[in-house]
Amino acid sequence: MAGKDTPLVGVLALQGGFEAHERMLRGLGACTREVRVPTDLDGLDALVVPGGESTTMTLGIAREGLAEPLRALAARGGAGGFPILGSCAGLIMLDRDHLGVMDMRAQRNAFGRQIKSFEADVQLLGVGGPPIRGIFIRAPWIAAHGPDVEILGEVEGHAVAARQGRMLAVSFHAELGDDDRLHRLFLESIAHALPAPAGDGAPVGETGGGR
Ligand code: GLN
Repeated sequence: MAGKDTPLVGVLALQGGFEAHERMLRGLGACTREVRVPTDLDGLDALVVPGGESTTMTLGIAREGLAEPLRALAARGGAGGFPILGSCAGLIMLDRDHLGVMDMRAQRNAFGRQIKSFEADVQLLGVGGPPIRGIFIRAPWIAAHGPDVEILGEVEGHAVAARQGRMLAVSFHAELGDDDRLHRLFLESIAHALPAPAGDGAPVGETGGGR
């Protein structure tokens, strides 16, 4: 049912907290598709890599032959790259040591392994209003990053949110709870990445009929 104004957002669904992302994205009017094999990437306007367990996710990505297709997807979309949102383990997956699509190094379980699951207010650059209440579950932080990566937010002096072009990575679970401002920011970047309506870049499966 995707119309031209309705972005189709893939959510990597090998493992982890993909359903909460889907719910939030659908609540904001996007269509979602669970991504498990490379062909699920066809025709997407954006992708979410959810939280979970990065070792398990890495194994799943290898098993399904998804690493190269995911890297190719990230390289699409012109100068800004393809819109991708990674949260928690998803942030880890985007870093130099995993898919290598963002120029940063994530430190896993950086706040401590079990005891350091907590909530904290994160004031995010680009998100207006009060801070976002972030839920951190055995969360990473960004230990190092290159010049193309802009840090958007910190907790206890540690970088927990970053942007590189249209890729957005956060250490916390923004998909839990009812504050959808981060997903709104993400969907805005998709809008900018969509092909011009006059072109022939309608999403796969679209037929004529105009707008
Ligand atoms: N600690 C997990 C990892 O290293 C991430 C936790 C999460 O996604 N909530 O993969």
